[in-house]
Amino acid sequence: MLPPNDIPASEYRSAVFPEIHRDALRTLQVNLGYRCNQSCIHCHVNAGPTRQEMMEPATMALIPKVLAKYELQCLDLTGGAPELHPGFRDLVIQARHLNIEVIDRCNLTILTEPGQDDLAEFLAQQRVTVVASLPCYEAENVDQQRGDGVFKRSLLGLRQLNHLGYGQPGEELILNLVFNPQGPQLPPPQAQLEEAYRKELMQRYGIQFTNLFSLANMPIQRFAKQLISSGQLYRYQQLLEAAHNSQNLNTVMCRNLISVNWQGKLYDCDFNQQLNFQLKGPVDCLEDLLKLKVQWTDRPIVVGSHCFGCTAGDGSSCGGALQSAGVNPEQK
Ligand code: SF4
Ligand code: SF4
Repeated sequence: MLPPNDIPASEYRSAVFPEIHRDALRTLQVNLGYRCNQSCIHCHVNAGPTRQEMMEPATMALIPKVLAKYELQCLDLTGGAPELHPGFRDLVIQARHLNIEVIDRCNLTILTEPGQDDLAEFLAQQRVTVVASLPCYEAENVDQQRGDGVFKRSLLGLRQLNHLGYGQPGEELILNLVFNPQGPQLPPPQAQLEEAYRKELMQRYGIQFTNLFSLANMPIQRFAKQLISSGQLYRYQQLLEAAHNSQNLNTVMCRNLISVNWQGKLYDCDFNQQLNFQLKGPVDCLEDLLKLKVQWTDRPIVVGSHCFGCTAGDGSSCGGALQSAGVNPEQK
């Protein structure tokens, strides 16, 4: 843990993040809204049970058209809890009809929420890839970050998924877990952590999973506020900048992904979306993507000091560390 004596804001000079450009587009990552059954302290979208922002049906109807027009390979659904959107299941079914991989960024506790009793079966039937946050295999650490009782309910969700074949050796149903540090540190090496998770979750609870993704915390939104109140924001930013690894620039997730907010507006990634750094170029929203035919390769990406959160150390993305055994996380 860093000492709680922050660098004064007036003295801090952030390093300039290098220019980066897009490769071919393969993933549409859609935030269906900010309503969530949890209110985690590290949530970079400030989601929670009282948030009202949800994607309108007319906006949602554009998504399958965009997937088809740009021949995309993956629809990555996030939120809030994306499953709380009334149109979630229809959208999944439409994307799967197009033979597109669908990722559900699932908080696990949603699987035991009232009215969601058949959610796990639905995900399994549709062969949806589940990516689920589990920042530790110790109950106390999970509950501290994600709320009282979350660990116990996460285990219930994981058991449901395992029972349906998720995360089991030889099964196609993918269950990836996501680790992020408790505080302002870089995550440990992903492969080493995955081994520890596999051993501990099996020995303690009989739980299996496919891969572990290890991500750094982004110094924005709720986590930034927490860093400010504990006097650690600029020291954490300095830590990220000092650990910048330029090799990670080749595989940051924004090279192959467009992020869509609940209103249908476009961003280079979910973090830019939360900071309202809109995409550069001729398109602003999903409708524009249907009106025009955009060539994505070589288009510039909007970057800022938060981007060091993606390139520090082994790197971070929606698909985990960027330096894990040379695997492009978008291909995992
Ligand atoms: S479960 Fe996810 S979206 Fe919901 S509050 Fe926690 S981090 Fe945010
Ligand atoms: S924060 Fe977004 S734009 Fe910046 S490097 Fe990461 S993915 Fe790319």
